[in-house]
Amino acid sequence: MMSKAWLSLGANLGDPSAQLAEAVRRIDAHKDITVTAQSSVLATKPWGKTDQPDFANMAIAVETSLQPIELLDVILGIERDMGRVRDEVWGPRLIDIDIIAYDRIEMISPRLTLPHPYAHERSFVLDPLRQIDEDVANWVMETAAKSL
Ligand code: AMP
Repeated sequence: MMSKAWLSLGANLGDPSAQLAEAVRRIDAHKDITVTAQSSVLATKPWGKTDQPDFANMAIAVETSLQPIELLDVILGIERDMGRVRDEVWGPRLIDIDIIAYDRIEMISPRLTLPHPYAHERSFVLDPLRQIDEDVANWVMETAAKSL
């Protein structure tokens, strides 16, 4: 059974655009994941902690046979392999990958909340998502707003 998921990617250290491209390549190289759409790369001002370099952000759509937690484990592994700096919340990072939505599943669990709990209030997540799938972007906004 194939499911569809939408991922948000961000980077602000090293060569951000190159790291986004490398992350997309690694995601697509996974045998159980196929990248089906990619937004453009948007330059955005840092959120939360503002004294750090600008971010490059993008969104992708994937088709996968993995369950949501399995997909999370794959993207966390890619973040780790690409050497993310994990010390600071909202601090600089080589690559950050989040699951914005997985099909139209709504879930809250210790490791995974869907749709992503902050996505609807972050234009650097929603704008790229809108480029690749307007319907799911609207669903994320409505669903996240409802659960507040
Ligand atoms: P961060 O890398 O700072 O975005 O946080 C990653 C952690 O957030 C992961 O270890 C996940 O367990 C948790 N998490 C909860 N919901 C999500 C989601 N929708 N996408 C990615 N990570 C999530």
